Amino acid sequence: MKNFSDLGLCAELVRAVTEKGYDTPSAIQAEAIPAVLERRDVIAAAQTGTGKTAGFTLPMIQILSDMDGDKPRRMRPVRALILTPTRELAAQVQDNIRTYGVHTRLKSAVVFGGVKINPQIRQLRDGVDILVATPGRLLDLCQQKACRLDEVHMLVLDEADRMLDMGFINDIRKVIKLLPKRRQNLLFSATFSKEIRSMTRELLVNPITVEVSPENTTAETVKQRAYRCDAGAKAALSIELIKGGNWDQVLVFTRTKHGANRLSKKLDQSGIQSSAIHGDKSQGARTRALQGFKDGKIRVLVATDIAARGLDIAQLPHVINYEIPNIPEDYVHRIGRTGRAGKEGEAVSLVCNEERPFFSAIEKLISQRIKLSDLEGFEPELWPNRAPTASEVQKAAAQRKAAAQKARGPRRPQASNNKKRDNRGSDNAAGKSSNQSGGQSGGKSSGASGNRRRRPFRRKSR
Ligand code: AMP
Repeated sequence: MKNFSDLGLCAELVRAVTEKGYDTPSAIQAEAIPAVLERRDVIAAAQTGTGKTAGFTLPMIQILSDMDGDKPRRMRPVRALILTPTRELAAQVQDNIRTYGVHTRLKSAVVFGGVKINPQIRQLRDGVDILVATPGRLLDLCQQKACRLDEVHMLVLDEADRMLDMGFINDIRKVIKLLPKRRQNLLFSATFSKEIRSMTRELLVNPITVEVSPENTTAETVKQRAYRCDAGAKAALSIELIKGGNWDQVLVFTRTKHGANRLSKKLDQSGIQSSAIHGDKSQGARTRALQGFKDGKIRVLVATDIAARGLDIAQLPHVINYEIPNIPEDYVHRIGRTGRAGKEGEAVSLVCNEERPFFSAIEKLISQRIKLSDLEGFEPELWPNRAPTASEVQKAAAQRKAAAQKARGPRRPQASNNKKRDNRGSDNAAGKSSNQSGGQSGGKSSGASGNRRRRPFRRKSR
């Protein structure tokens, strides 16, 4: 088996990965690192949790260290750009770069929406070699002339499929227009849809395809189980699983932000300490919740799909799919939070009658049957022999929504339609994720200012 220096990595990087505790390169690293070092465009289909971040960051650090490394930092322009769909993933990728680049002189920075822009502007002014960004905030910074991308030699699209799901395609196109035509492009994605394939044709030149596992598959280290139940019994069933199994670190996925808040409240009421993380939470609250969960201070993190992509929670043992995603690829990402880096993990799905077509679509995507069982006391009352079709479910959901809207009365007209970009990051907003929760990125970009809802006047407490 190859080691890191056999892949052509320099001594500083081999030392950094050894200090990090990696003995051997993972399969994706063994294939991607030499290809990137050869300066080829690369399409990498890697399951999440396989070490793909090091697959592109290690060779990137090496290439950039060999380039302009002697110039003072302020005179070194951004030469590598990594775009990610969510703030959390961006922060995590930069963490990795800092760890792997510890013995080099390279400077990295991360920029995303939802936090103040000025510190990011100052950091960019001081000189940055590798920039990790979510697309919305990056465009804001470029518009404000705080960031130049005309000397970017390497572009990485991380979790490219998610960026498309979240409606970032136009922003990505705008960013690409700011880059030099000749550059190296790397595209990493766990799932490959038709849209992704057409984007790769548009962007990449004569790429090498690196595929360490079949597309759209789940890691073998994740044990998958599913329970039939009624929709209204899911909270009690989750509590039973967590308490009964003595689970101490559980990531639970809900479909909506409200659903996440509601479930978190119910868990707290039952004595299970939890936090919710989704696009309506401030960036500070999101970071605190995630950190508390990683540190073991919070037992259950209830998340919308914002947390499904890319996040690396060391040795996470349990994932609950509280609601079944209607985009089957989301299932792969959700359960990929567990069973990472060769560790065992378990993913439990709670399936109610209406979710049966989504569950079948997942089984089709991953080419696996997941046995549906019953947990005593939670057997579903509603489970007719014939499963509803996806269109029947959608029709019923639309009818429920219309009835709820009617009950609420007419909506107040929106001030303008200029909120699109602001909102895109929030759950339920983006593109094809229709009734699913999206993650967030460019978020409250200053470029779309002027339409923020005014906060009611609040007296300062003393
Ligand atoms: P990623 O898929 O990049 O999010 O990485 C998943 C996890 O695998 C992270 O916790 C990495 O620190 C870890 N990892 C990456 N490469 C290796 C390696 N070669 N050996 C052991 N662990 C690794």
